[in-house]
Amino acid sequence: MSLQRQEDGGIAAVQSIGGLATAIGPYFKSHRDCFWVGWSGVDPAKYEQRDIDRMTEEYRSRRCEPVYLTEDEINGYYAGYSNDTIWPLFHDFAHEAKFEPATWKVYQAVNERFAEAVSTLVHPGDTVWVQDYHLMLLPALLRSRFPDLRIGWFLHIPFPSPEIFRQLPNGADLLRGLLGADLVGFHTIDFCINFMSVVRLLLDLDIKPDGRIALTDEPSDPATGSDRPSSRHKRYVTVEAFPIGIDYNLYRRTARSSLAQAMQHGIEAASGKRTRRIKTSLTAESQAATEAQVADSNWWSHHAHQELPELALARNLGPDADKVPRKVVVSVDRLDYTKGLPERLRAFELMLERYPKWVGHVTYYLLATPTRENVETYRNLKQTVDRLVGKVNGKYSLLSWTPIHYITRSLPIKPVCGIYAAGDVALVTPLRDGMNLVAKEYLACHDDRDGALVLSDMCGAARELTDSFVVNPYDIDAVCEALNKALEISPDEARRRNRTMQTRLKYRTADLWCVEFLSTLRQVSDPGTADRRL
Ligand code: ADP
Repeated sequence: MSLQRQEDGGIAAVQSIGGLATAIGPYFKSHRDCFWVGWSGVDPAKYEQRDIDRMTEEYRSRRCEPVYLTEDEINGYYAGYSNDTIWPLFHDFAHEAKFEPATWKVYQAVNERFAEAVSTLVHPGDTVWVQDYHLMLLPALLRSRFPDLRIGWFLHIPFPSPEIFRQLPNGADLLRGLLGADLVGFHTIDFCINFMSVVRLLLDLDIKPDGRIALTDEPSDPATGSDRPSSRHKRYVTVEAFPIGIDYNLYRRTARSSLAQAMQHGIEAASGKRTRRIKTSLTAESQAATEAQVADSNWWSHHAHQELPELALARNLGPDADKVPRKVVVSVDRLDYTKGLPERLRAFELMLERYPKWVGHVTYYLLATPTRENVETYRNLKQTVDRLVGKVNGKYSLLSWTPIHYITRSLPIKPVCGIYAAGDVALVTPLRDGMNLVAKEYLACHDDRDGALVLSDMCGAARELTDSFVVNPYDIDAVCEALNKALEISPDEARRRNRTMQTRLKYRTADLWCVEFLSTLRQVSDPGTADRRL
């Protein structure tokens, strides 16, 4: 959630999109003893002091402590080091990563600002759960101020292999920052293994057979850069995988809400899935229309030496209309280069080319909302996706059918669930992703229903959702084939596959993920328990 100024001068709370907000939001709302410290989302230079005070009050009334960052800080810390250095590198896009000393300095300074903000709120023995790659120095900064804090850190994106991580000029400082935590969590075992390999490689630390990292000294203070100040205190850092889940019932219920159903029915009508009965009753009329179209198009058809797709489709309006069913493919993403949108669009295009029976019959609803528009790569990506959508629509559109419906607005949860529910197939093909919640949300919206999931093997979710059509997202040919198979799957087979995956998702919810992380943190940081674990 962040506050935004409205046209009438008022200030309104706006829901943030992204995995972190979706996963922790419900836990935060239902646990009134938590306080959330985060970036305010506004540039203080653009507001009068009394507006800032009002916003701070508004945030605090919602148990949030805002950290106000200037435009320069946002550029260096958020757009710069976090999203132009760590994000691409950790997603194996090393060629996109920029290494600029200036942004590293701002990243350090902003982590300090967060340490100050947290310091005003905590007492010895409190628990602080640090989220994600934006705050990798914070655990050690807090540890040096409050040795008795219980500190956990969780990474919502992949953790790269040592070969990739070692390219990061300040990598060792980031690791020392993280080792201020008692518990370091990742989505998958693979990311835990990468992390431990990197710690061994760059810091030469001892890792116990059970995966704990033994610190004979306190890690150095990343702010001062001093190397391993001596300390008699021996600590262990536990590394563990906590695959994040979703609020399954929320998505299941929301997909059945009237607004989501209206959206679902709208999509089904627009894609032709819901008009069959009307068409049957208008058979004579459509037959006449078909003949007129054929007559009109004869000249073109003759001269082009090929049949117009409109004519092929028009034939389908006759008694054989139901031979090829109408289907809907959906996807929901932030417009991010890690999500593999260009590759996915090429696979969809190849599918229309290789399986012409789907032309006029499969409609793709592509919800892709721009984010991080202040980063150049993201602006370039938007242009690439715009161009590819235009190309496919220009090449394959028929008078009565458009292959891709491209929506770039950010939609609230109900219409998003309506889109999921309308999808016979969900195409979820990130090139790299820590978990990917969209795949799980789609399955929750298809509770007790058919619907097929085509899922990238490059995301954490693929380790759990093994009954989906798992593909290499870089392999356009394989994605095209998987998509065709998913479109052809029988409802019974789809239900059977979904049931296995849904059973797991129903149990391993976002709430359980929060509870498990926090209870493990309590366990590993309790001196008595820690000793017993030695
Ligand atoms: P990431 O955290 O990288 O964005 P995830 O798939 O893990 O990817 O989580 C994305 C979350 O944001 C999901 O809860 C999804 O419903 C939501 N989301 C993603 N894209 C959009 C969009 N275009 N409009 C609305 N919600 C979106």
